[in-house]
Amino acid sequence: MTGVSAPSDEAPVQTGHHIGGRRLEGSTGQTFTSRNPAHWSEVVAELPLGTGSDVDAAVAAAREAGRDWRRTPWPARGEIILRAGLIMEQRKEELARLMTREMGKVLTEARGDVQEGIDMAKYIAGASRRPFGETMPSELRHKWAMTMRQPLGVVGIITPWNFPLAIPSWKLFPALLAGNSVVFKPAEDTPLCALRLVEILEAAGLPAGVVNLVFGLGSEAGEAVVRHPGINAISFTGSVPTGRHISAVCGGMLKRCSLELGGKNAIVVMDDADVALAVDGALWGAFGTSGQRCTASSRLVVQRGVLGDFTDALLARAAALRLGDGLDPDVEVGPVINERQLQRIHAYTGIGVDEGAQLLLGGEIAAQGALADGFFYPPTILGSVRAGSRVEQEEIFGPTTAIVPVATLDEALAVANGTTYGLSLSIYTNDLGTGFRAVEELESGIVYVNAPTIGAEIQLPFGGIKSTGNGHREAGTVALDQFSEWKSVYIDYSGRLQRAQIDT
Ligand code: NAP
Repeated sequence: MTGVSAPSDEAPVQTGHHIGGRRLEGSTGQTFTSRNPAHWSEVVAELPLGTGSDVDAAVAAAREAGRDWRRTPWPARGEIILRAGLIMEQRKEELARLMTREMGKVLTEARGDVQEGIDMAKYIAGASRRPFGETMPSELRHKWAMTMRQPLGVVGIITPWNFPLAIPSWKLFPALLAGNSVVFKPAEDTPLCALRLVEILEAAGLPAGVVNLVFGLGSEAGEAVVRHPGINAISFTGSVPTGRHISAVCGGMLKRCSLELGGKNAIVVMDDADVALAVDGALWGAFGTSGQRCTASSRLVVQRGVLGDFTDALLARAAALRLGDGLDPDVEVGPVINERQLQRIHAYTGIGVDEGAQLLLGGEIAAQGALADGFFYPPTILGSVRAGSRVEQEEIFGPTTAIVPVATLDEALAVANGTTYGLSLSIYTNDLGTGFRAVEELESGIVYVNAPTIGAEIQLPFGGIKSTGNGHREAGTVALDQFSEWKSVYIDYSGRLQRAQIDT
């Protein structure tokens, strides 16, 4: 089923970089456009292609503004972030509609993305008055020992397009609360959402220059951010190849870098599961955001006793999902982000079939009628997928999921764990022991029982193991860790030299 409403008649926004609180034209005069993936002829914004010299200007502004920002009391910084969250709350609908136009996710999910930013603002603002350091007894008399968090300096933030407000919020709010200033390079597909977020922060009282936005391509503007010697740390979310490259560059510079990368997440469905519940979860996990989530349920590892019932029910539900423009309230699956990604997703269908998988649903680019002006791929289900095959191992990042039949719990856990990724894994079972065994043995940063692989909440740490990252977590109680240094402080008021480990 399909549905496409008319393109928006809003005029394209023409803007420059946002540096030092002001619009700044790009140094070369070259521009790029952000377009609606549901109506490619609709230009949402025209922006400058950032270069190394634009990044230089952004770093200079961040250094200048950072001097005072780092001395601003934590609670005062928190107040600004809270106000930004409240403005986002007031403007939620407008921001969600912009997001749907800019990257295609259906409006209900776009509202959820904005909500994640609001939640993070409130959560982080709440952290601003909590005790951050520790006071510990010294081994010596008349001496105090304590720890305190310090900002890193200028942080480079580089984000993908699939969560255009949530991911920047997860990074910007804790980075700012910790007293850093920022150079922010958003994805080229969602620049306007990023600009609106920075404008909201400044409307909430963030001093000019504390966050500086440079638009452009990853290969040029992003690369310049990573390599800039004036940027002390990089916080990156994106694909494994880009993350690996950034990690190598930062390693050579001894620059701190935190990476949140891809996933090949699996839902395990055991014979004792509530099959209807598992189908609900698989439908949402595999096809929500058109499968363009790092946590998408791109593998369904199903025990043979329920394989038939599960597959039949999933096929019936997935075939009925309505494909189209995410602004249409009846649409359940929006477009994919761009032509390159559409072709890549489609190529994986062919790869799966060549590997011996059965194409059970979808598998053809949807271009009938008004869909022809966008990038639409229908929910696609591959059956009888072999563990170890490419469609079972590689991140597709689209509305394609692979059903892998298994015989036992041991086999299910081995298949679920058998990729290089480790972000989110889930199990459907009504057996308490099976559930707990899975919690212990699934190799991922996030585990769900009787829920799909998507649905993280901001008050828990978010991130993965293996190739999904380099050991950092975002959000939760550890949100400040990647954006601050610990300083250990000793205050000796004895009036004489005391030697630790010797005069005790
Ligand atoms: P991507 O191609 O790696 O791009 C991510 C960001 O990096 C974009 O802003 C991109 O700029 C920039 N970039 C590209 N090359 C660069 C370079 N050499 N130096 C510096 N920056 C560079 O990823 P994507 O396609 O946007 O996003 C999808 C990927 O993100 C998937 O793998 C998904 O799983 C992952 N993801 C992970 C999480 C998580 O938390 N683990 C969350 C969401 C998404 P351009 O836009 O100009 O290319």
